Order: sequence, then C-alpha cells, then structure tokens
Amino acid sequence: MGWEAQKKGIDRDQIEESLRAMGLGPGDKVVFHSSLKSMGYVEGGPDAVIDAFLDVVGAAGGSEGPARPSGTVMVPTFSYSFVGNSRAVAFDPVTAPSFTGLITEVFRKKRGAVRSLHPTHSVAAIGRDAEELVRGHETVAALGAGSPFHRLAEAGGYVALIGCGNTRNSLIHVIESIARVPYIDIFCWQHLGWREAARVIGADGREHEVPLFEVPGCSESFDRLTPHLVRAGVMIEGRIGEARAYLLKAREVIRIGVEILGRDPFYLLCPAGTCQACDHRRDGVNRRDNRR
Ligand SMILES: [Zn+2]
Repeated sequence: MGWEAQKKGIDRDQIEESLRAMGLGPGDKVVFHSSLKSMGYVEGGPDAVIDAFLDVVGAAGGSEGPARPSGTVMVPTFSYSFVGNSRAVAFDPVTAPSFTGLITEVFRKKRGAVRSLHPTHSVAAIGRDAEELVRGHETVAALGAGSPFHRLAEAGGYVALIGCGNTRNSLIHVIESIARVPYIDIFCWQHLGWREAARVIGADGREHEVPLFEVPGCSESFDRLTPHLVRAGVMIEGRIGEARAYLLKAREVIRIGVEILGRDPFYLLCPAGTCQACDHRRDGVNRRDNRR
C-alpha cells in the first residue's frame, strides 16, 4: 500500500462534521455504541472518535475545552462479571476491563471520566451531567428504570450507533423494563454457565458475591424496532467514514417501544427455537403461568 492509500480515511474533524450533520450539537447528552473498524482508517484511533464526541456536545472541561462543560458523553463499559463467567474478572471500577470495545476501554481511562458501580453493566461518562447519570447505578436494574441509560433518555439525550444497529443498542433493554414485559425477571444465560450473581471487589479489597436482578437478555432481534423508529423520524441515518451511523432520540424510542410491547410483549425476543437465551425466557414465563 502506497503513502497516498494509507493517508485515506477520516480524522477527528470529519467525524465532528458527520455528527453535526446528524443533528448533534452543544449541550447535548449522548451515549454511543460503535465499531472502530467499521469506520475504515481513523487518524488518531479511538481518541479521535471520543474527542470528536466530547467536542461536538461541549463535554470536555478545563484545559481541553471551555471552562464549564455543557454537554455529556457516555459509553457502556460492561464488565460481564457474572459468577461463572471465566473470561471476566471480579468487578472493580478502576481495574475491570470493558468488554464493549476498544473505544470504551480508552474512554473509561480518560481524564474526567466517571464510571458507575454496576457490577455487570457499568457505564462511563464525561461532562456536565456525568456524575448525575452514573450515581446509584449499583442499586437499580442494570438497564432498567433509574439506570444511566434511562436517565439520559429522560433528560432528552441521544443514542448514537456507529457501524451497528439496534441489536447493539442497550437502550432497547430499558424499554423491556419500563414496559414490564412478562419475562423481565427471568435469567437467561445459564447455558453459558453464568449465575444470576456478580463477583465484586468490595471496599475491604476482597471478592464478594452480590445478587443480581432483571439481568438484560438477548438483543439479537432488536432490529425489529428499526423500521418503526425510522418511520417515526426518531432514528436519523448518517455516515461516519465507511460506517453507516444513526442518531436516535432516546425518550421517543422508549415511548414507541413501550407502545409496541403493550400490543405484543414478546416482540423483542428471537423466534421460538432459534435462540437458547430467548427460549429460556419464554419457557420461564410458561412455567410460571402453568403454576398459577
Ligand atoms: Zn435471542
């Protein structure tokens, strides 16, 4: 590959331009899910993507931005520290690596980033409302009412998807929780050897087991919502480098999703017999109904 070919790609300025074109601006709150490799060559790597988001919404403070930040950027830093998950370590907010991609791992270590204390589905945020979004996450359902994703939606925030669709959009799990789908409290990862409990490093420096509830399930069928959201004008398509990108109005996404689940509570599960996780949940509901 020659020098000219290597130079092709995108940089931070071009990412900023693309984000603004989709409607993101100063003072906004945004959580993003992204695939770095989907964008093609990115000059500056993960930092260029993160800094573009921080810049566009005005989330960087101090020497890197205006004296007081106006916007907020959040990313998932899920550690999946379930009991039985041999790939994950016990959750400690400082040391547990993020399993949700290289960009999120770089983000959580950035100056000014605060990470929530949820033992399996923590998030990290930078900017004006960062503390407010992450506070108390360990006391509520991972992606339920009062979780950082729900708070961001309630505050008028956005979800950005870069190189991925709604199957990677954690906000859709919030819809399942708000709609109180009948399978919400049925754990579905036992076929992976996981249990409904997390391994956590406590204040005493020792490892503890803590119980979990409303553990998020399978998201492979979440793209079923996409046409509804596009039609309603709450999911705007754009491009970042070689990647297809979307900007979603989180509050509207929840409203539309709750409406749909009101008509068909199983709408977001995979078809019966095609997915072990979704089958666990359907079976769990049937067993419970039969006991009544
Ligand atoms: Zn499934």
